[in-house]
Amino acid sequence: MKFIMILLLPNFALGFNLFLDIGHTPSAYGAISSTCKKEYSYNVDLALSLKTILTANSDIHVATRDVGESTFNERYLQSSGQDLFVSLHHDSVQQTDLSHSHGCPTAGCASGFSIFVSKKNPYYKQSLIYAKRFANQLIKNGLKPISNHLKQTHKKDREVIDPFLGIFDMDDLKVLKHAKSPAFLFEAGVIVNPLDENRVKSEYFKKIIAKSLKKCVQEN
Ligand SMILES: [Zn+2]
Repeated sequence: MKFIMILLLPNFALGFNLFLDIGHTPSAYGAISSTCKKEYSYNVDLALSLKTILTANSDIHVATRDVGESTFNERYLQSSGQDLFVSLHHDSVQQTDLSHSHGCPTAGCASGFSIFVSKKNPYYKQSLIYAKRFANQLIKNGLKPISNHLKQTHKKDREVIDPFLGIFDMDDLKVLKHAKSPAFLFEAGVIVNPLDENRVKSEYFKKIIAKSLKKCVQEN
């Protein structure tokens, strides 16, 4: 009788499994930009661009959430078996800081990226290590962490972990606290700020994020 042996290899032999969660859905689309574009469309665009760039010439296995409607349950269940789960977003500011004088919500008071982790995630320590590595790479590649971190601390649901790296704790973020793997949420830029919105549209910006993410996971 012949036996077929199924060999279960550890992750490092199979490559790194990265899951890119597309923040929000078509119906609950998140923020509105300074050109009245929905955040969800920027999140889709960034996720698909990163997947294309990262899967070329790399041993990183990149999966993304399907474009379209999805429940939170469906979203964090997709983190199961992943080495890292990254939820992609684009930020706004508090309502009181927004101007509508040009028709679309605009604010110049905030700019830059930010990263959120949750202490309720079962892999919090590992999540924070990845968040710090990623932030360091983004900065090394010329991006800046969010400029209004003091304003952010006025929101009671978050705690500043490292203002120089743009990292915050936000324990009750559903996709992070229920994720079955190390996880962080990335706000790529502040799309109510016209300068940031222009920046996040560019291919160069997406290449920097891909390069930083690649370095971050390859330090394992
Ligand atoms: Zn968002």
